[in-house]
Amino acid sequence: MKTVRDIGEFGLIARLRNLLVTKDRSVAVNIGDDCAVLRSGVKGKYLLLTCDPVVEGVHYRPGTPPDRVGWKAMARNLSDIAAMGGLPRWAVVSIGLRPDTPVRNVEQLYAGLRAAAGLFGCAIVGGDTTHVAREPFVVVTLVGEVERRRLVCRSGARAGDAVFVTGKLGGSIRGKHLRFIPRIHEARWLTQHFRIHAMMDVSDGLASDLQRLVDAGAVGFDVVSRAVPRNGSLRAALTDGEDFELLFAVDARDAEALKRRWPFRLPLTEIGRAIRRRMVLLDGVPLTVRGYDHFA
Ligand code: ADP
Ligand code: MG
Repeated sequence: MKTVRDIGEFGLIARLRNLLVTKDRSVAVNIGDDCAVLRSGVKGKYLLLTCDPVVEGVHYRPGTPPDRVGWKAMARNLSDIAAMGGLPRWAVVSIGLRPDTPVRNVEQLYAGLRAAAGLFGCAIVGGDTTHVAREPFVVVTLVGEVERRRLVCRSGARAGDAVFVTGKLGGSIRGKHLRFIPRIHEARWLTQHFRIHAMMDVSDGLASDLQRLVDAGAVGFDVVSRAVPRNGSLRAALTDGEDFELLFAVDARDAEALKRRWPFRLPLTEIGRAIRRRMVLLDGVPLTVRGYDHFA
């Protein structure tokens, strides 16, 4: 019998997508982007909805300080709201705990969750609690909002677009994966000043995430290897993941103005171009390495 390992995480999500097709007119963007995009009835705005888990042993090592785990659990979801150009508003948090967990640890977990949410004016308004026999987990579900004209999806890149990434990629396991700042302010600035054609956050590594932009849209990408801003090797930058930086495409005619006006200390780097062939190329050659897959 076929297992999820056989088809991989991408293959599984593709199947779920076919199962979950909806004709509901309130759903503007269904599975396949960083958040679902919903017509909530608020004039001029969309609701954004996302949920991401963190599980001990998968997303953090046993013994990680609970406030760091809480920060990461919230910040991963905030990063998905950033990727759509939105602002986070409300969160609910489900936790699975072993019965012998010190209460203090749970309070520290929530201090981390609140610190990350509070940085962007997001309130935690509920959740659920269960016991677990083995690995504890935290699942944050986040609701955000975005002005309709500032929504950015994974799908909108056009051939010839300039492709940018914020920050540096790779090596997040050395600590950044527990401490990163979701790029909400940067994404808001981008959508305020430029027409961003497509955007996502880099969670599974540049190689896999560029492929997701290809899958979602009508173009491919050619990346210049020496341009990729990185903390370690090129391979690490392409495949490590958990960078939670912004990856986006703009009209090439906007590239110079964007670089000149970028007001943040965080690096902003042009790494390549969108191309007609729906493939990910590195220096013109098809890229074969892949980033993180939960099952493959
Ligand atoms: P991200 O890393 O930005 O959270 P992914 O690339 O992991 O997003 O997920 C791709 C898409 O698949 C998202 O739109 C997400 O909502 C959807 N998805 C992932 N897992 C499931 C699931 N178990 N059921 C329904 N949709 C899912
Ligand atoms: Mg994402």
